[in-house]
Amino acid sequence: MDRKQQILEIIREKKEVTVKELAHIFKVSEMTIYRDVRQLEKEGEIIRKHVSLVLNTEENIANLNLKACPVCNKPITRSHPYRIIVENTKVVEACCEHCGLMLHQRYADKDVSALTFDFITEKPVSALDAYYVVGSSAVPCCSPSVIPFVNKEDAEKFQKGFGGKVLNFVDAYNEIVNRTNVNIKSCCETPQLVSFKLSQLKKEE
Ligand SMILES: [Zn+2]
Ligand SMILES: [Zn+2]
Repeated sequence: MDRKQQILEIIREKKEVTVKELAHIFKVSEMTIYRDVRQLEKEGEIIRKHVSLVLNTEENIANLNLKACPVCNKPITRSHPYRIIVENTKVVEACCEHCGLMLHQRYADKDVSALTFDFITEKPVSALDAYYVVGSSAVPCCSPSVIPFVNKEDAEKFQKGFGGKVLNFVDAYNEIVNRTNVNIKSCCETPQLVSFKLSQLKKEE
C-alpha cells in the first residue's frame, strides 16, 4: 500500500488527523505529507477542516458550517483565513491569499491592516511582512495560488518543490491583480481597477 493509501486509512480510522501528526507517523517532512494530501484533495477523497484532514463526506461538509469567501464565494475551510482589518474595526476574511489580495482592492482607500498565516507552521504574520509563493503547482484553493510564509528561506524551499515565484506583498499583489486582469477565466470576479498604495496599509502590531 502506498503512503497516500495509508494516509487515507488513517483518516478513516481516526476520523481526523493533522499534517503534523502524519509527518510524525511516517517520519517524513510535512512538505512530503503535503504532496500526498494535495493529491488526495484533488481526487476528492479528503477535505480540510481547519488544520485537520477529514474524509470528504456530506456530513463533514455540513458540520463545518462554513462562511463563504467574499471574493469567489467558495466556503472558507481554513482555521486561519487571510484576514483584512478595516479601519481597526471590521474584519473581512478570504478563502486564501489569492482572494485576500483581490479583496484589498475593495479597501484601497481605507486604512487597513492584514494578517496571514504561514502555510506550514500556521504562525501568524503581518501580510506585509510575509513572503508568497505565487503561481506554483500547489493549488490548495484559488488559482494562481498564493502561498504565504513567514521566512523567505521557507518560501524558497517550497518554490524548489512546487515552482512559482517568491514575492513580497506588493509584488504578489501586482502579480495577482495584473494576471487576473488578463485571465478573466480565473475563479475570481473581474477586479475593479482601484489604485493601491502601500502607505495605506498599517503594519500588524
Ligand atoms: Zn475566495
Ligand atoms: Zn481561495
